[in-house]
Amino acid sequence: MIIQLQPDISDSQKDKLILEVNGVGYKTTEVKTQLGSYLIGIGKKEFDIRKIGNMDGIIDIHIVSDEYKLVSKKWKAKPTSVDLGDGIFIKEGEMAVITGPCSIETEEQIRAVVAHCVENDIKMMRGGVFKPRSSPYAFRGLGLEGLKLWHKIASEAGIKIVTEVMQTSQIEEMYPYVDVYQVGARNSQNFNLLDELGKVDKAVMIKRGISGTIEELLQSAEYVFSGGNEKLILCERGIRTYERASRNTLDLNAIPILKAKSHLPVIVDPSHGIGIRAYVPQMALAGVMSGADGIIYESHEVPEKAYSDGQQTLDFAQSARLAGWIRESFAMRKGFDLL
Ligand code: PEP
Ligand code: MN
Repeated sequence: MIIQLQPDISDSQKDKLILEVNGVGYKTTEVKTQLGSYLIGIGKKEFDIRKIGNMDGIIDIHIVSDEYKLVSKKWKAKPTSVDLGDGIFIKEGEMAVITGPCSIETEEQIRAVVAHCVENDIKMMRGGVFKPRSSPYAFRGLGLEGLKLWHKIASEAGIKIVTEVMQTSQIEEMYPYVDVYQVGARNSQNFNLLDELGKVDKAVMIKRGISGTIEELLQSAEYVFSGGNEKLILCERGIRTYERASRNTLDLNAIPILKAKSHLPVIVDPSHGIGIRAYVPQMALAGVMSGADGIIYESHEVPEKAYSDGQQTLDFAQSARLAGWIRESFAMRKGFDLL
């Protein structure tokens, strides 16, 4: 169960409530986020909901049978809107377009991508400064100095930054320079990292694990929410299957399922999802049609020269066309909703 607490609930009212919830056989955990206070009850026994629902100091009580609680749609019908400031949101009803290179490489490259975003009215730029690489000898990113430089250039142009955080020690140093912390597929179940991101008042985008289930992705988001941070975005980026013809298998089934199970916005990463440049646009548009609230894809001025993931990266001309198609497809999808 989820009990939404009134902001001014007194200690004695809370003690009474906890006693009552424990009394019906439920263990309690208190959660305080930027937006509210909650008491989570974990248990299986049937009880008379009115017994608790009528107590002082609560806003509402909800029975949530899912394993995850706070990210479930069962208690919060209104979709979560993640506000990045300056009128930029990631939320249901809008289509977020996020593009940029796999890795942040040089000042010249940052300037080129920022200019590309500005020209195409793209408000959010992706890029890695701390890169998780399968080989320790591959380019591992420019680090914090690269992020600072990127932030300076992007913020002057009004562009928001989406970038991966790989470990807990990076959270604080990155904080002034990021708009969305990305949790990569390899860290999707790094529970220490998720716990710490729960303490931060900044958006977090969690990618699905390489062999993670939909339920596991939702549980990862539950870690961050229950840690105190409601500013969450889910990302489908493909999973590992027996198929070797594509880099990953983009699981578009996950989009309507996640949207039905959770109130969080869901975005699709077709670049890592299929891993083949020529097929990124069609998978991006399939993502739009499957109900996504945003698309994140890789672009670079000269993809062949990219330090990482060039094979799945669009050039600027391709990216400009795709951004337009994403918006057109989204307009078409909204039309279906009206039918
Ligand atoms: C990336 O976004 O460049 C990246 C490393 O993604 P993932 O964690 O999905 O592999
Ligand atoms: Mn990449």
